[in-house]
Amino acid sequence: VRFGGALAVSSATIGARIIYEALGLWGGEIVFPALTFISPIAEAIHAGMTPVFADVDRGSFNMTVETLDRVVTKRTRAVVVTHYAGLPCEMDEILMYCSMKGIRVIEDAAHALPASYRSMPIGTLRSDATFFSFYATKPLSTGEGGMIVSWNDELIKECRRLSLHGFDKDAY
Ligand SMILES: *Cc1c(COP(=O)(O)O)cnc(C)c1O
Repeated sequence: VRFGGALAVSSATIGARIIYEALGLWGGEIVFPALTFISPIAEAIHAGMTPVFADVDRGSFNMTVETLDRVVTKRTRAVVVTHYAGLPCEMDEILMYCSMKGIRVIEDAAHALPASYRSMPIGTLRSDATFFSFYATKPLSTGEGGMIVSWNDELIKECRRLSLHGFDKDAY
C-alpha cells in the first residue's frame, strides 16, 4: 500500500488551518460536530469559511452520516469529523456519502491516537487528511505539537510549503 506522508507541525490547530488552505476551501461551508474543540472552528473562520454544526449521536458522541446529511447544502465544501474521546466515527458511511457529494473529509484525530477503525489505524483511512495533537492533555504528548497525515503526497507537499511561510526549500 502507498502512503502519502506525514508532516510535523506546531499544533493540531495550525495543522487544521494548513489543511484548509492546501485544499483551497476558502468561501465554502465546512461542517463540524456540535461536540468538539473550538480551535479548528476558529481557524475555519480565519480561513474564510462558514462553520456549520451537525449534531452528535447520543451513544457514540460522534457525528453520523444522518446528522451530517441534515446540514449539508450546495455550499458545503468539507467536513471535519472528530473521533471523540478516541472512539472512531463510522468512517465507511461518512467517506462514501462525502465522495458521492464531492465533499472533502478531514479527520480531527486529536483524541484518537492509537485508535483504529475496522483494523485500520486512524490516520490511514481514505479521508483527504488527518491531523493529530500532541498537546499536554492528549493521549500521546510532546508538550505541544501536531501532525498532518494524508494518502495524497501532493497535498502533503503543499502543506509542507504552507507550514514554512510558502517557501519550497528548507534550510538544509
Ligand atoms: C486539543 C484539540 C485540538 C487542538 O490541539 P492543539 O494541538 O492544542 O492545537 C483540536 N481538536 C480537538 C478535538 C482537540 O481535543
